[in-house]
Amino acid sequence: MHATCIFCKIVGGQIPSTRIFEDEHTLAFMDIRPVVKGHALVIPKIHCESLRDAPPEALSRTILTAQKVARAQLNGLSAEGVNIFHATGAAAGQVVPHLHLHVVPRFTTDGHHWNWKTVNYNNPDEMTEWAARIRSGFPEKR
Ligand code: 5GP
Ligand code: ZN
Repeated sequence: MHATCIFCKIVGGQIPSTRIFEDEHTLAFMDIRPVVKGHALVIPKIHCESLRDAPPEALSRTILTAQKVARAQLNGLSAEGVNIFHATGAAAGQVVPHLHLHVVPRFTTDGHHWNWKTVNYNNPDEMTEWAARIRSGFPEKR
């Protein structure tokens, strides 16, 4: 529990939420500002901020609950698809610093578009260089 974290307060019941599923380790509740009606959030009950610091067990339990919620949206809402979205860090759009997965039911008629704008590498070597930089970020082998 993190004293100033709104999602920890939702876990603890100090802030009301519309819960749709919970187990010992995770909670799923409705997002108050849905991008599509039925948009849910799935969080671990322990406080961690993002992919950077999430304990692997909390993260795996969170994605497994997200799968349950996605299936429930497909069955209960007759959703035709589901998007799962996550932001780590303000630069990625993270506003609430408690790890969460957005689980968004999708309908061919929902009118929502992610509007992803793609960019191009200047040449194939540039992509190889970016790949090498990512590889350099893995922990060193012991
Ligand atoms: P982020 O931008 O951090 O990935 O997403 C945070 C999400 O939390 C937003 O979609 C926002 O609508 C939702 N949210 C923020 N405050 C509350 C709240 O008090 N209750 C609920 N249910 N959702 C919230
Ligand atoms: Zn928290």
